[in-house]
Amino acid sequence: MKLKTLAAASTASLAALALLTASGLTLGTAYMDREVTCLFNMVREVRTIMELEVHLLSHERESARVALTQHPEHARARDAAEREMKRWLHELRSNPVTAQNAGAFGAVELEVERYLAARAGVGERALPVLEAQLARPEEADRAYAALERLLAAKLAEAKVARARVDAVNRLSNTMSHGAAAALLTGILAALWQVSRRVYGPLLSLRAAIDRYAAGSHDARAPQGGLDELREIAVAFNEMAAALDEQRRRQLGILASVAHDLRNPLAALKLTVDRLRPDRPLPPEERLRPMLARIGQEAARCDRMLTDLMDIARLEGGELELRCEVRDARELAEEVVELYRPAATAHELGLSLPEEPAPLRCDPIRIGQVLNNLVANAIKYSPRGGAVQVAVAREGAEITIAVSDRGVGIAADDQRRLFERYFRAPSSGRVASGVGLGLWAARRIAEAHGGRIEVTSAPGKGSTFTLHLPC
Ligand code: ADP
Repeated sequence: MKLKTLAAASTASLAALALLTASGLTLGTAYMDREVTCLFNMVREVRTIMELEVHLLSHERESARVALTQHPEHARARDAAEREMKRWLHELRSNPVTAQNAGAFGAVELEVERYLAARAGVGERALPVLEAQLARPEEADRAYAALERLLAAKLAEAKVARARVDAVNRLSNTMSHGAAAALLTGILAALWQVSRRVYGPLLSLRAAIDRYAAGSHDARAPQGGLDELREIAVAFNEMAAALDEQRRRQLGILASVAHDLRNPLAALKLTVDRLRPDRPLPPEERLRPMLARIGQEAARCDRMLTDLMDIARLEGGELELRCEVRDARELAEEVVELYRPAATAHELGLSLPEEPAPLRCDPIRIGQVLNNLVANAIKYSPRGGAVQVAVAREGAEITIAVSDRGVGIAADDQRRLFERYFRAPSSGRVASGVGLGLWAARRIAEAHGGRIEVTSAPGKGSTFTLHLPC
């Protein structure tokens, strides 16, 4: 899994959870709001009913007083009670009529109206006490009963609404606790994933780097966790393996150079031993070849050390060219002449154009390249094999081709020939080497704006062609 995917998945899950919780809570709150409004309306209705009852009572009482006393003050109080009754009746009518309360509302309205109609004539003339008391019409009882029924219905409705609110309240509580628990679990799960797939692999990677830095070259990072971290671990492991391989090869080069230096040094030691101060000097005709041999072996050591230093410089990226115009024919000739005395077992041929082939180059570096190509052609050819050096002019380029009829190189290996330390398995068995000559040759050719091309067939031979702009 990729880091981006893990982050996106965790964020999306947590966001979905939060959204779900928020919408649940919003819905719950809206429902509660509706129920509370409903309860509030019911309280208003209950108050209206009670007000009606109070004014009905007051109307009845004042009507009885009027019947007993004919006092205008009681008549005014009765009329005021009647007005109040009508006002509260109007208030009651303004409440929303539902299927449940429509009948009870209608009954209250009807009974109160009937009561008022029945009471309309009573008390206009004075009555004795008993008669006035008995003047209470049965309409009043029916109005009270209707009001009580409506009150009971409203209280029952309020009870149901209250139960609903309680239920929603409980549900909201459960939902918010559940959502909190789910969010906590989600966060813990995300943290666990981060620790398992990010933190753990990072610590292992860090530990592997520390171990490698402390000198344990076999330290490798475990390749687990997220894709990006796995890729880093793979890259680190590949780099560590490449560095190990490079170190192994460098040790091999050192061993090889030490081994190669031993031969000229042994020859030097042997020759110098004959000139020890305690031994008489040999006659001049023997002394001169000995001194010449000392010079040759010292020059060989010097060349080997110079080559090694060149490679070290090229590895460090320093390649200083001292360019001058030289005829490519001369450069090729010098190399062939250099090898001709030593390569007695091979046929060395040279093919030059008649026209001069002027080249702006660093002659020492180009000589180094040609040396390497000719030395390889000899090294990887059997005794008696022909090695041909040919100079030609092709358009804006001068080419110097070195061909042999040696072991040749397989097509797959040809692609890797110019890699540092690469040695083709087939030719590697034929002669010793470290795989740096062609790498250095290509760097030098490229520094001159040129290139080296190779054509080869296993068992038939190879041609390495140096192309340089003229
Ligand atoms: P070295 O010769 O020291 O191994 P080079 O860089 O000069 O290193 O050559 C790299 C490899 O290319 C050699 O090991 C050999 O396998 C192959 N090679 C180079 N020149 C030839 C050649 N003329 N014929 C066959 N193989 C060659």
